[in-house]
Amino acid sequence: MRRVVKFGGSSLASAEQFEKVGAIIRADKERKFVVPSAPGKRYPDDIKVTDMLYSCYALAEAGKDFSNEMKAIKARYQEIIDGLKLDLSLEEAFATVEKNFKAKAGKDYAASRGEFLNGIIMAAYLKFEFIDSATVIFFDEDGKFNADKTNEVLSARLEKCEAAVIPGFYGAYEDGTVKTFSRGGSDITGSIVAKAVKADVYENWTDVSGVLIADPRIIKDPKGIEVITYRELRELSYMGFTVLHEDAIFPVRQMGIPINIRNTNAPEDNGTWIVESTCQKSKYVITGIAGKKGFCSVNIEKEMMNSEIGFGRKVLQAFEYNCIYFEHVPSGIDTMTVFVHQDEFMHKEQNVVGALHRLANPDVIDIEADLALIAVVGRGMKSVRGTAGRIFSALAHANVNVKMIDQGSSELNIIIGVENDDFEIAIKAIYDIFVETRL
Ligand code: ASP
Repeated sequence: MRRVVKFGGSSLASAEQFEKVGAIIRADKERKFVVPSAPGKRYPDDIKVTDMLYSCYALAEAGKDFSNEMKAIKARYQEIIDGLKLDLSLEEAFATVEKNFKAKAGKDYAASRGEFLNGIIMAAYLKFEFIDSATVIFFDEDGKFNADKTNEVLSARLEKCEAAVIPGFYGAYEDGTVKTFSRGGSDITGSIVAKAVKADVYENWTDVSGVLIADPRIIKDPKGIEVITYRELRELSYMGFTVLHEDAIFPVRQMGIPINIRNTNAPEDNGTWIVESTCQKSKYVITGIAGKKGFCSVNIEKEMMNSEIGFGRKVLQAFEYNCIYFEHVPSGIDTMTVFVHQDEFMHKEQNVVGALHRLANPDVIDIEADLALIAVVGRGMKSVRGTAGRIFSALAHANVNVKMIDQGSSELNIIIGVENDDFEIAIKAIYDIFVETRL
């Protein structure tokens, strides 16, 4: 068995957290490839090292004095080194960082130092080899992650080592210039490493015991999810689940490597398994509920629309020409509705309306704002009758007016449109009926 283990920022925020991580790694000989994030928050009002680096670099870029900010960053690392009683000095590494900040090496370079320096500490602490991710993770000229080259170089490199620390979040262009993934990107690095070593499992250690059925800011102490499929997670992440970076699924998914989300502060918990497919039924019919506010619906009416070939294409073209993504397109006999992101659509609405008239010549266009979309996701829905009925009766009881219903042909999810103001009430009602009362 081979396990790749990734630790998030809160798992590495202090020496104490590092010790927990060390104990987890040493508890299992299969945990040989470690991907660390930068030190995160030690307490709620604390600042993540990555954010400190961004602010510090902003000063450097503006040609201002950044010595105090750099001192504070150094102190964060020194506190960890001292706490772990390591015989390690980052003086030289920091001298290089300062020199490169002065030379305006770039925002990505600056941010990546959080993981780079933490990786050096982690490697010294575990006595594992340190591999600079800039030498094994590559981006194309246009900034796209180069999966093929990375996999080739990284797997050859890792084959040669017993145990290694590969810092998360960054890689480099062909010419060696450092580039980062988007925020939270260490999750992607972990997945890339898991693919490269053909791991049996990718363990993603964080500060919660797995994925929760619903957002804890809306539902008090929601239940956890034991097993979820990649597809279910993808649907939920798209609609706002934040447990893992959206793009982290892709590398492991190609190889069918399961992801196990675990809690560094409660290592005995099994966490959540994210798998390709499973015969395990989820406990509650639905696997999760997620949603987002801030949508508009553009309702287009035209008599006999259904018998006009190409009508749908013309409607969507009006959005395409204005560079607007659409989310859902439910349709009736003489109506078609396009759901779009309100902030994107707002400034262009009259251009879109004009384009719709020119291209599709509808009878009426009606725009409605301040809508929310809720995704109820579950592989179990396919085989259980009455799921949609239960959702809508729960919403009716909660006095929520349903604006739109869209069920994908995979029967994996049901998307419901409601008013922004009804968003939390609707999620509570759905959670209640499936999880709390299990009616
Ligand atoms: N340190 C980076 C961030 O704060 C990347 C990560 O933690 O995954 O976004």
